[in-house]
Amino acid sequence: MTTPAYLFSPQPQPALPVVGSSAVFPVHRIYCVGRNYAEHAIEMGHDPNKEAPFFFQKNPSNILLGREFPYPAQTSDLHFEIELVVALKSGGTNIPAADAMSHVYGYAVGLDMTRRDLQNAQKKLGRPWEVGKAFEHSAPCTPIVPADKIGHPSKGAIWVDVNNERRQTGDLAQMIWDIPNQIRFLSELFELKAGDLIFTGTPAGVGSLKKGDKIHGHVDGVADLDVVVV
Ligand code: MN
Repeated sequence: MTTPAYLFSPQPQPALPVVGSSAVFPVHRIYCVGRNYAEHAIEMGHDPNKEAPFFFQKNPSNILLGREFPYPAQTSDLHFEIELVVALKSGGTNIPAADAMSHVYGYAVGLDMTRRDLQNAQKKLGRPWEVGKAFEHSAPCTPIVPADKIGHPSKGAIWVDVNNERRQTGDLAQMIWDIPNQIRFLSELFELKAGDLIFTGTPAGVGSLKKGDKIHGHVDGVADLDVVVV
């Protein structure tokens, strides 16, 4: 096959640094699971016992690697959601839960930044969520830590402080749909690929941010994430 002549230069391939490696992780897609911790589902007005998992996507180019998160346009209710991020090294379709973890390269800590006012307006109208979820810089993320260094975390604290005050707190063991089942569900809907990221949902306590706020997120045994809203 010959390489096509592009009309203009393609945009750069989004990638995440990898702890302990000079090679970077090229990002293919970003999947996010909604309402995956019971108390967060309840705070958003939903019954956690009645729902199958559901997913939305952000754009790979929405990843923010730097410390400064620019306050986005067209919102007055920007929310933080701290999440464990799963990074895949391989994929496929119809992956059984029992095989799912063999596709995981590593983990990171991310923020699913959300224009909650826009998301809520879209929900009311039965419209898609992109304007609330998939905007520029909406996926701040740490470098990836390989699973061969830290294993596969299935329990451990996940929390976020804003201006040194604890705002969200939970435990990975509280996920309604664990990581193997998230991969199984996703692979029944999409063809998963090496380079895919999965934001695995957020515990209770989401809230609003303003310029100058300092966010410090943490997942036990994985990483710490520091972001300031500018
Ligand atoms: Mn989320």
